[in-house]
Amino acid sequence: MADLRRLAEFGKFGSGVDRTAFSEADLAARRWLAGRMREGGLEARIDRLGNVCGRTPGAARTVVIGSHTDTVPKGGWLDGALGVIYGLEVARARLAAGTAKDLGIEVVSFQDEEGTFLPFLGARGFCGELEETALAEAQGKDGRSLLEAIAQAEFSGAPVRLDQSRQVAYLEAHIEQGPRLEAEGRRIGVVTEIVGLRRFRLTSEGRADHAGTTPMALRRDGGAPLLAFLARLGAEFPVLGGPDTVWNIGSVALAPGASNVVPSAGEAVLEFRDGDARRLDRLEAAIRGWVAAANAGGDASLRLAPIAREAPTAMAPALGRVIAAAAQAHGIEPLWLPSGAGHDAMVVGRYIDAAMLFIPSIGGRSHDIVEDTAEADIVLGAQVLSDTVARLARRDAG
Ligand SMILES: [Zn+2]
Repeated sequence: MADLRRLAEFGKFGSGVDRTAFSEADLAARRWLAGRMREGGLEARIDRLGNVCGRTPGAARTVVIGSHTDTVPKGGWLDGALGVIYGLEVARARLAAGTAKDLGIEVVSFQDEEGTFLPFLGARGFCGELEETALAEAQGKDGRSLLEAIAQAEFSGAPVRLDQSRQVAYLEAHIEQGPRLEAEGRRIGVVTEIVGLRRFRLTSEGRADHAGTTPMALRRDGGAPLLAFLARLGAEFPVLGGPDTVWNIGSVALAPGASNVVPSAGEAVLEFRDGDARRLDRLEAAIRGWVAAANAGGDASLRLAPIAREAPTAMAPALGRVIAAAAQAHGIEPLWLPSGAGHDAMVVGRYIDAAMLFIPSIGGRSHDIVEDTAEADIVLGAQVLSDTVARLARRDAG
């Protein structure tokens, strides 16, 4: 708890934290973290990207425990930081107990999970997914390029990388950032999968005319087909989607945007998320069909352009069951649930067995300074994670 509270001092903003990737506060927090790792007996380094890694010495096989210490602007004190400090605590506890030689720990704080410059920058670098061209093109919200920010940070440790010959699993603990654990009165969550996402820009075109003088039959309304499409989505997605499907129409605009002008064009951005790629395919096929049908019927000119696509990442069920067993040993029946938010585990889990443990968020609030979790839940989560590693060590030895 003391380390979590100390980390929250870097970039403190009211009851929360403003510590975006490569800000002064983020760099200072990363240096502090590496120092705390060394004080705890870990071998620590910060690589060029800003990934901080602390490793317990002497073990041939390790578990990677990671998350991120960067935040969104004016974010909360636990998001990401929790999972990193859990890793530090588990590593120190195993060193103190003399068990870190059997199965070592690599604690990682990945850089820029929140996408100030490039979403999942550190985790993608860890997995060898980063192209130099993507690095060169990334631009921060503060006007700096990513390469400038990297150069100014002057981190030069050896690259923190995935090594499947040594690392047997990836564990990430995180606050839920949603209301389900609290609503169901559960204190531990085990993540089944991190949902995939499809995001589209929908545009339509027509012709601007006087809204009072142009008869309805003679209009080419650029907004109406777009609005009809969105109404259809609202009516049909509850039937087409699954129990955990979510969708959002986050932006709608009509041009020129005056009450007495027939719209000449419309634009909306919509997205949907689900853990099942086949369901995402079915939803995408449905909206493509609606666009084709609308355009076939007359002079509507709807266009659908994909703008983002993330595949769902399944967590390793056997690893999740170890977390569940560790929770049950504390008398806690965990809730299995998908994660609607992206996490570093979404990237790392494509390469090695990964599992995520959730603890409740008070009121489901996150990405805001009000974000908080009861101290008893924070402590319980650390114990369950520690016990999970102990169980993995026994399994690894056997
Ligand atoms: Zn996070």
